[in-house]
Amino acid sequence: MSATLKKWAHGAAGIVRSIAGIGVISPEEITRRRGICHHCQFARPCALSKRQMCSCSVCGCQIVHKTRLAGEQCPMNYW
Ligand code: SF4
Repeated sequence: MSATLKKWAHGAAGIVRSIAGIGVISPEEITRRRGICHHCQFARPCALSKRQMCSCSVCGCQIVHKTRLAGEQCPMNYW
């Protein structure tokens, strides 16, 4: 499996777990992570709302889902 395909599969599995509520962390920790992502130089703004950050340019993950999951880590070790 190519690196791009692995990255995509990891992201897709994370979205499914997040939506299903599997391995979701506390609301306080989600808020803390999202606060860090929101001000991160590697965060990409959302297409429809430039004031919100949607994805991480390092790992390609969707921030809204990545920050909810216990098994996820910031690729830059910011959280
Ligand atoms: S996951 Fe880490 S590197 Fe990516 S946007 Fe969030 S804080 Fe930045």
